[in-house]
Amino acid sequence: MTTRTTLALPKVAGRVIAPDDPEYDKARSSFYGGFDLRPAAIVRVADANDVSRVISFVRETGTEFIVRSGGHGVAGYAVPERGIVLDLADMRSLDIDVEGRTAWAQAGLTAAEYTKAADAHDLATGFGDTGSVGLGGLTLGGGVGYLVRKHGLTIDDLVAADIVTADGQLLRVDADSHPDLFWAIRGGGGNFGVVTRFKLRLHPVGTIVGGMMMLPATPDVIHEFIALSEAAPEELSTIANVMPAPPMPFVPAEHHGKLVIFAMLCYAGAVEAGQRAVAPFRALATPIVDMVKACRYPEMYPPEDPDYHPIATGRTMFMDSVDRGVAETIVEHLNASTAPMRVTQLRVLGGAMARVPVDATAFAHRRSRILVNVAALYESADQAPLHEPWVNGLTAALKQGDSGAYVNFLVDEGEARIRQAYPGPTWDRLRAIKRRYDPTNLFRLNQNIPPATDASQP
Ligand SMILES: Cc1cc2nc3c(=O)[nH]c(=O)nc-3n(C[C@H](O)[C@H](O)[C@H](O)COP(=O)(O)OP(=O)(O)OC[C@H]3O[C@@H](n4cnc5c(N)ncnc54)[C@H](O)[C@@H]3O)c2cc1C
Repeated sequence: MTTRTTLALPKVAGRVIAPDDPEYDKARSSFYGGFDLRPAAIVRVADANDVSRVISFVRETGTEFIVRSGGHGVAGYAVPERGIVLDLADMRSLDIDVEGRTAWAQAGLTAAEYTKAADAHDLATGFGDTGSVGLGGLTLGGGVGYLVRKHGLTIDDLVAADIVTADGQLLRVDADSHPDLFWAIRGGGGNFGVVTRFKLRLHPVGTIVGGMMMLPATPDVIHEFIALSEAAPEELSTIANVMPAPPMPFVPAEHHGKLVIFAMLCYAGAVEAGQRAVAPFRALATPIVDMVKACRYPEMYPPEDPDYHPIATGRTMFMDSVDRGVAETIVEHLNASTAPMRVTQLRVLGGAMARVPVDATAFAHRRSRILVNVAALYESADQAPLHEPWVNGLTAALKQGDSGAYVNFLVDEGEARIRQAYPGPTWDRLRAIKRRYDPTNLFRLNQNIPPATDASQP
């Protein structure tokens, strides 16, 4: 359906959703609430030709635009009222080569959709911890999820991509063809063009031992949980969300609001070995809820409420260790917050992710030990000033030696922080590649890497 917009948009095979369209409000919303995007049109492209037409249009007319796949970006770039959203949500085809163990996946697919389809062949690619996240943004930033220690980041399984660059051309990039661009899109985000589809490697996964385990969050349990995660076999990846227990039906009422570790565990290997690997976590304290069991891998992505749009302030960082003192700091700060919900998320890294050389891709944090996210969730956007100081205070209290940042969890924090996502030579190399493929910085409403100004830069 095409509705009326004041822009003279090119004809596309997909859909144009303008402000007078009944779908407009739903189409302009993101996963996170609190962003009020009112573009002149949302262009739901149908194929790479549509993408190319839209890119040529925005380049020639100077129209501001953002690119969107799954709409789970955490930074919320504002597009002006005369601007457009180039939306890949209708590009969701998946072509699995079972023999070759690869899949061509369009960027609008979600992690859950891909994972379910691949599971029909006992295969999987690692994405993040949430099924509704889009492949587009997640893959281009890196992709840290339940298979990170066993199989690495999502980009470690990226073998090729189709990308429309700023000049409107569709390029196939891989290790041999445009290797510089292939390097840059593995971590460099949406700076280099619109990726229409990814070719991803699949691994035999099938049955795992995984699910949610809720433990009381005392400093000792938090510290020991992290120590166990570090010592665990690589098959096991864990995510520890230290937070007040939500009033969910499966959580006994006496624990509601008390601090717990809402942990997600995933052992991708033989079931018996998996049961052995999770046993020490069960022994840390009597679990409040224990849903960890042998199950199919897609069960790590339970159904989600499509109307859930949390409003949050978050900060991301890396840490080297969580000793008992650090765990105590986390508990103290979480108890002191007035936000209705607040969380410190700890993800122990290492394993396959850490074996990839630091300069092999644009994701340069291969040696980082623990990925940490601190967030406060509240009812309305105007409460942000109440909770931001708390988020900043806990982040500052947790700071250790590693000043890096994972770009996919960065909010709009300015260039200095983007540089920390791309430290040292990574930044210079990305800027040189940006200059080659997007010299006018057409793709700028993102975690922006400006083109190098000096042609002699590497
Ligand atoms: C609830 C939740 C859980 C998350 N969990 C994880 C996790 O476990 N692991 C992890 O690694 N990350 C996680 N993330 C972060 C997530 O990877 C990023 O927010 C990612 O950008 C989302 O991708 P998207 O396509 O859904 O978002 P969008 O909002 O659609 O896109 C985000 C940005 O990516 C770029 N982009 C998107 N698609 C394309 C494309 N096709 N071509 C070029 N550029 C594009 C654009 O710059 C855009 O601004 C999570 C986010 C949320 C909200």
